Amino acid sequence: MGAVFECKCKKCGYEFCSFVGVGFTYPIEYCEIVKKMKEGEFGQQGKKFFETFPNGAITCKNIVVQCKDCKNLMTVPELALYIPKEGYDPAKMNGNTCWTIGFPTEEYDYIAPNELEENYDFLEHYEHRCTKCRGYTLVVPGFNERRNKDTDRYVDCPECGSMMEIRMIGKWD
Ligand SMILES: [Zn+2]
Ligand SMILES: [Zn+2]
Repeated sequence: MGAVFECKCKKCGYEFCSFVGVGFTYPIEYCEIVKKMKEGEFGQQGKKFFETFPNGAITCKNIVVQCKDCKNLMTVPELALYIPKEGYDPAKMNGNTCWTIGFPTEEYDYIAPNELEENYDFLEHYEHRCTKCRGYTLVVPGFNERRNKDTDRYVDCPECGSMMEIRMIGKWD
């Protein structure tokens, strides 16, 4: 289940809306993203990771990051990188654990989030680069944390630099 967040700049009218979290199509997205990473579409970090760890796994829930340089806001798959725990061989596993009843999971070679927790070790975070200026990015907590009331719900407007309030406006899946 994902959440929909939006923010609007009161000063210049800039708007940004994002679907964060995980949806029903997770297995499909997972496979497509891994394929793209192997082809280098997400940069060298992803390509090298799968070359070094062919059995590696990722998280692909959507998150929002902001460019440190130009303040560009982007929705990206998280892509935290995981490797199998010592002694765990994904090739010996019999298929995947069921994601959703009625979903043809057999066709998709993906690692569900609960499998990650049980059988994989966290290796490193993904360094997402800005699509506009190639700058480095930071995760914006206000878009990615749903329950914690202490989360900072403000973010800089990429156009004029004013503070914008981040609001959750719905759910999706
Ligand atoms: Zn603005
Ligand atoms: Zn940038």
